[in-house]
Amino acid sequence: MHMDAHEYLDFEDILIKPRRSPINSRQEVDLTRSFKTKSGFVLKGVGVVAANMDGVGTFSMAKALAQEKMFTALHKFYTLEQWVEFAKDNAAILPYVFITIGTSEAELENLGRILEAIPILTNICVDVANGYSAHFLPHVAKVREKFPNKVLMAGNVVGAEMSEALVQAGADIVKVGIGPGSVCTTRKMTGVGVPQFSAIVECAQAAHALGALVCGDGGCVCVGDIAKALAGGADFVMLGGMFAGHAESEAKIVDKEGKPYALFYGMSSYTAQEHHGGVRSYRASEGKEVYLPFRGAVAARLQEILGGLRSTCAYVGATNLEELPKRAIFIRVRRQINPIYDHLESPHGS
Ligand code: 5GP
Repeated sequence: MHMDAHEYLDFEDILIKPRRSPINSRQEVDLTRSFKTKSGFVLKGVGVVAANMDGVGTFSMAKALAQEKMFTALHKFYTLEQWVEFAKDNAAILPYVFITIGTSEAELENLGRILEAIPILTNICVDVANGYSAHFLPHVAKVREKFPNKVLMAGNVVGAEMSEALVQAGADIVKVGIGPGSVCTTRKMTGVGVPQFSAIVECAQAAHALGALVCGDGGCVCVGDIAKALAGGADFVMLGGMFAGHAESEAKIVDKEGKPYALFYGMSSYTAQEHHGGVRSYRASEGKEVYLPFRGAVAARLQEILGGLRSTCAYVGATNLEELPKRAIFIRVRRQINPIYDHLESPHGS
């Protein structure tokens, strides 16, 4: 047994201190940036990514997010035919999408077929729950060897050592997060995880030192959390729960006492496993399912995110998101959001 007594922090343990700022209005802040990748591609946009989950990473979501230059990691259950059909009418959106695979040979072959059919697709996301499994690094290296000229995001990991290893295996973007997801039960089921803010800071320092980027994945429940992740060094922030339940989620809507609710579930929940080929007996569920009040079109959520991030930048005097980590001073706090009214419903919805 070894005890690492270093204090690891989550989003709710910290706040960003306001600073004297030359910015008079949040309109002066530009949230789009260029992401230079080691593979040579330059992605341009706002570093927000819809998660590759059923009910989040859908073609409809990608269309809505691309309007605001945000990215979508499509869930991995779209077929070649569906991809080809989507690409036909949405060429302008393709720079904003990632195509997701896991670690099976079949998925790698399928990826090859999709990229052959749609060569202008540039972004790949290799996604596994546990980036520490022995087969993961060799798989990432294999994907890189097969597709040397594509942007490669890979994860999930939570520390410097594995971030470096992933970059050396060919990843352009290290995906960070084990256990923080809104419908993830890993921490409860296994006792494993690292508080997400500290994980982002550690991985970002390691990846940036090697010229790579990071995507903080999971645990953001409000725009302030996205701002903290970006200020802590994340180049991208991946969101599941914040985009779930919107019209673009393509989720099953059910009526409960006259009100519409959308089903949202973790990708290793029993619901997801049943949906995609049955529960494997050796694998306990590490995800749960919830019904969210239907939230309508995602456009309002996107404006909330853009407005909040502009405001964060204005508070600390950053004219863009690349400057944000340089300007941000974090303070350690016990509790930062006024808890008195937290339980009350807003007239504007959540
Ligand atoms: P959220 O933004 O909802 O907090 O987190 C989204 C992330 O949760 C996803 O991108 C993915 O990394 C993670 N996730 C999704 N489903 C599951 C699951 O069933 N189990 C676990 N452990 N993580 C999940």
